[in-house]
Amino acid sequence: MKRTDPPVAADRLDWHHDAACRGELAAAFYPPLRPESKSERVEREREAKSVCRSCPVRTECLDHAVRHDERYGIWGGLTDVERRHLPRSA
Ligand code: SF4
Repeated sequence: MKRTDPPVAADRLDWHHDAACRGELAAAFYPPLRPESKSERVEREREAKSVCRSCPVRTECLDHAVRHDERYGIWGGLTDVERRHLPRSA
């Protein structure tokens, strides 16, 4: 996957086509390949989450990330750490 691609898994779904993170902004959704300071991470995540807030497919994105156990990046407006703390359905 190119680093500028939106966060998608191999099983592309229709909702992905309406993702607000398509294009250049998608780089904010994953950590850079170089070391990242805490302040850089906070700013990058803030930028990504601001895109998610207005995304028309936020619910579908988060649902996909949880169901497929996406471990990296920001999906549905949540970081990987935040997703791990979501309540799990039985
Ligand atoms: S909710 Fe965020 S990460 Fe998911 S598709 Fe929309 S902009 Fe991208």
